[in-house]
Amino acid sequence: MARRGSGGLVRLLVTLAMLLAAVAEEATVAPAEIGVEHAPAAPAQSASEEAPALASETEAEQHNQPPPQHLLPRPLIIELPSEAAAAAREAAAGEGQDEAPADAVAATLELEVQVDLVPAAPAQDAFENAAAEQYQHLPRPLVFEPAVDDVPADVRCASWRLAAEANNLAPWKAVPAGCAAHVRDYIAGAAYRSDLDLVARESTTYARAAPLRGDGRDAWVFDIDETLLSNLPYYAEHGYGLELFDHQKFDRWVERGEALAIPSSLKLYNEVRELGFKTFLLTGRSEGHLDITAENLKKQGFHDWDKLILREACDCKKTATVYKSEKRKAMEEEGYRILGNSGDQWSDLLGWSMSARSFKLPNPMYYIP
Ligand SMILES: [Mg+2]
Repeated sequence: MARRGSGGLVRLLVTLAMLLAAVAEEATVAPAEIGVEHAPAAPAQSASEEAPALASETEAEQHNQPPPQHLLPRPLIIELPSEAAAAAREAAAGEGQDEAPADAVAATLELEVQVDLVPAAPAQDAFENAAAEQYQHLPRPLVFEPAVDDVPADVRCASWRLAAEANNLAPWKAVPAGCAAHVRDYIAGAAYRSDLDLVARESTTYARAAPLRGDGRDAWVFDIDETLLSNLPYYAEHGYGLELFDHQKFDRWVERGEALAIPSSLKLYNEVRELGFKTFLLTGRSEGHLDITAENLKKQGFHDWDKLILREACDCKKTATVYKSEKRKAMEEEGYRILGNSGDQWSDLLGWSMSARSFKLPNPMYYIP
C-alpha cells in the first residue's frame, strides 16, 4: 500500500512538472507574439489565408523574424563625413561606447543643417525673390590660383576653360590674365570651330529624332550672339574676353550689323526649319537693335524665323536667366512645345519652362548670368 501510495505521488509530481513546463513555455512565446503585432503591417490577409502560412514551426519562426533590413525605414539625411564627427566616433569606439557621444551627435546635426541649406533646384518662385537673386551671385574667388605648380600653364587654362563651360565657375567676370593666350588660341584655332560643329551635329541628330506632332506647335529656341552670329571681330579687338565687358562699346559694334554667321549653326537652323520646327530667336539684345539685328541675320543667311524677341525696357534689370525663362513660359502659354534650345550661355538654357533638350555652344570669352 505504502509502495503504491509513493508511486502515485511520483506520477502526480511528474504531471505537475509537465504542466509547469507547458505554462513556462507559453509564457516565453507570448512576448514574441506581441512583438509581431507591432511589426510593420503586412499586406492584409484573411485569417483563413494566414493560417496555412503558419502550418509548420519553421514557417512560424520565419514569420516572427523582423522584416529584412532593406525594408526598414532609413534616415533620409545624407550624413557627410567630417573630421569632427569622425574623431568623435573614433573616440567612442575606443571607449567601447555603443552610441555616439554628444559631440558626435552635435556634429551630425550640424551636417544635417548644412545639407538642408543646399539650394534647391531652380524654380520660378525661387527666381522671383531676392534670395534667389543672391543665389545667382554667390561669392567666389576671382583670382585664378593654380593648385599644382608642376602642371603646365596651358593645361591649367584648359582646366579653367572646361570649368567655365561646365558652369562650375559661375559667376565669372573675365578670362584670367594667365589664360588670355590660351583662350585666344582656342577661339582663333581649329578647336573652337570643331566644338561648334560637334554641338550642331548632335543638335541635328536630336532634331531629326524629336517627337514632332506636326501641328505647328513644335518649337526650337535659338540665342543669337555666339550662337547664330559670331562677334569674333569685336572680341579679337578686346582681348577675347580678357577685357571686362563694355556694353556701350559692344552696342556700337552691334549697330554696325557686321556679325558673322556661325556656319554650323546656319546649317542647323535651316535643317530645323525644314523639319517643321517653329524657330524663335530669343536674344539679350535690346529692342532698339531690332532692325539692325534682323538685317544682320538676313545678310548672313538666316531667314523666315517665326519670332525675333529682344529685351524690352521692362526687361532691362532682369538677369538673362529670368528674362529668357519668362519668354519661354509665354511661348508655352501660347501652346508651343519647346523641344530644342541652343545657346552659348547657361542663362540661355536654365531657369524654368526649359526645353526638352538644350544644347550649350562653347564660349569661354564671357559669362552672362
Ligand atoms: Mg549668346
